[in-house]
Amino acid sequence: MEPRDEFQSFCRNNLNRPNFTGRLFDQFSGTLPPGPKPPLIWLEANACSGDSISILNSVAPGLGQILCSLVEVRYWNALMPSEGQKAQELLFTTAEAGNFILIIEGAISTAGGGRFAIPFRSGDYLFTSEELLLYLAPKAKYIIAAGTCAAFGGPSAARPNPSGSKGVWEIIQDRPVVNVSGCPINPDWLTGTLFHLLLFGLPEVDRYQRPTLFYGQTIHSACQRRSYFDTGSFAAKLGDAECMFTLGCMGPVTGADCPYRLWNDHLNWPVKAGTPCIGCTKSGFPDRSTPFYTPLPEKLPGRTERGNPNAEEDLN
Ligand code: SF4
Repeated sequence: MEPRDEFQSFCRNNLNRPNFTGRLFDQFSGTLPPGPKPPLIWLEANACSGDSISILNSVAPGLGQILCSLVEVRYWNALMPSEGQKAQELLFTTAEAGNFILIIEGAISTAGGGRFAIPFRSGDYLFTSEELLLYLAPKAKYIIAAGTCAAFGGPSAARPNPSGSKGVWEIIQDRPVVNVSGCPINPDWLTGTLFHLLLFGLPEVDRYQRPTLFYGQTIHSACQRRSYFDTGSFAAKLGDAECMFTLGCMGPVTGADCPYRLWNDHLNWPVKAGTPCIGCTKSGFPDRSTPFYTPLPEKLPGRTERGNPNAEEDLN
């Protein structure tokens, strides 16, 4: 079997077992290309740092193993020891050398000259996230938008969006941007995507440029409460055991593998914890998910002013 087929087969056959990424490391880290690891620039724009925090919480594999095995961090404001001028020099020298992986966290603000997101300044000059993105993207080998803000604008672009925030792919349209959405990302989604990029290049993506490996099916298709939905048994209030479609669950129109991927070291996920899925991996989140506790047929009409009006409604 070809290595890529073996990788895809492994992914297809192991997704519904715990600790997918840990087993991915066990099976495939020995096949990573020899030589220096690719440099990584992690640029934070309009964001809450939730995606950085989420990947800091990765346990199996831990962040140390991820960083030591996959990439060499050159610039990541949340993690790098360098600061000030030294940090800026690292960013620019890495960028000029090219062949780096660029991860963007957060939406790109375009209003007010982009000054709603200033990653750093040099003297009196303020570098905006939009300016840095436009400088870095053409030089990067791969571009990942990590989190729903970077992918689609997310909460940063929620109405009335005074910062003019946009997803990276709305600005960079002549290069492939891999959208690893989620508010925040699950660490496995990012680690698995990095793995695929290093071993086989760009992964198969859906029409929202998200890897089908992680977003290719709806939450609803694998939910532990699906039998309640199929038999028309619905929760009347939070805490009830039945299907939460009536409480606004977005699982039927949200692509992600949360029901078996799980969170917090593969421990739990929202529906299992008793709260509806709010569709955080979707384009148009959160505007098209609100009001959160209103059932889907009632909340989707009139919620389509941003983006494709049919976005993801046909996923199921
Ligand atoms: S709780 Fe949500 S995802 Fe689960 S079966 Fe009901 S509607 Fe589908």
